[in-house]
Amino acid sequence: MIPRSTAIPKSPSWQRQLAQSFTRLSTFLEWLGLDRSELSHLCDDSADFPFRVTRDFASRIHKGDANDPLLLQILPLQQESIVADGFSLDPVGDTHAAVSQGILQKYHGRALLITTAACAIHCRYCFRRHFPYQQQHLEKQLSDETLEKLNTPEISEIILSGGDPLTLNDKRLAQLLLQLTQLPHLKRLRMHTRMPVILPSRVTPELVGMLRDFPLPVTTVLHINHPNELDESVASALRQLHHGSRHILNQAVLLRGINDSPEILRQLCEKGFEMGILPYYVHQLDRVHGSAHFQVSKQRALKLETQLREQLPGYLVPKFVTEIAGKESKMPIGKF
Ligand SMILES: *Cc1c(COP(=O)(O)O)cnc(C)c1O
Ligand code: SF4
Repeated sequence: MIPRSTAIPKSPSWQRQLAQSFTRLSTFLEWLGLDRSELSHLCDDSADFPFRVTRDFASRIHKGDANDPLLLQILPLQQESIVADGFSLDPVGDTHAAVSQGILQKYHGRALLITTAACAIHCRYCFRRHFPYQQQHLEKQLSDETLEKLNTPEISEIILSGGDPLTLNDKRLAQLLLQLTQLPHLKRLRMHTRMPVILPSRVTPELVGMLRDFPLPVTTVLHINHPNELDESVASALRQLHHGSRHILNQAVLLRGINDSPEILRQLCEKGFEMGILPYYVHQLDRVHGSAHFQVSKQRALKLETQLREQLPGYLVPKFVTEIAGKESKMPIGKF
């Protein structure tokens, strides 16, 4: 018998759950009860951006429904290889905004840290799906040189981005946060993550504790596109997260056939609000190669924005924006 003290320590349950994600399309479709013949134009072999989804997210997909709005976000399709006009590998100019390894400075006053390349889900419309992460993500520790670059009055906010920063373990995050406390000009910390929705168990007491103890206000920006992504397990994780993150906001991407309806967007805003999330942005799709089939026209987007404004109080209406490479902030879609 192994004495207790020498037993291998168990990894946290979220890491074990993450390891149980679906990474094979065929296993996943079988589990969903969908036959390939019901899904046309599947692409099994997208080696550079393979299929991936957690069991949590998968459990919110209606079994047997080939048009489920959560399923459509993750199904690799042959349309992804279509070369469409105006679509490119780096639509938002990320590679030009790199000021040093793992740091993008695109927006005035804010520096974005590419903390990791990893995500717990592969969203097919992702604008960073072709991002050269190998050269561009942060080293394990921020080097003195990197800290020096960030240590300027011109940067008052750090945005932890990726990939998904919450795929890092608590120890790595704690180290990173500790390093950031050395920056006297910082006023705010922000985290852009899908994990509380994709893998609610990631919101550990340790994570909440380290965010709560961070000396500056922390804001979490989630990424939820459809109200069906929200269930009781997410609500429960967000109740915990609120103890560490002062604000929880949501940005969604407007996606054809998934959430381009006033009713769905209204439900998303209202259901999110019940769980303590304030709507932040609805993005016009970034025109990344392989995502043309998700695009919603500008006219339609403007109409949706008006419809939402007619139905909801002002604070529940997200800003409809688009990202233009080289601009220092998002732009209201009406202007472009
Ligand atoms: C736009 C954007 C930001 C920062 O812009 P804000 O207008 O300050 O929210 C950060 N990360 C991503 C992925 C973005 O698209
Ligand atoms: S979680 Fe975000 S970064 Fe990761 S694949 Fe989805 S959209 Fe892209």
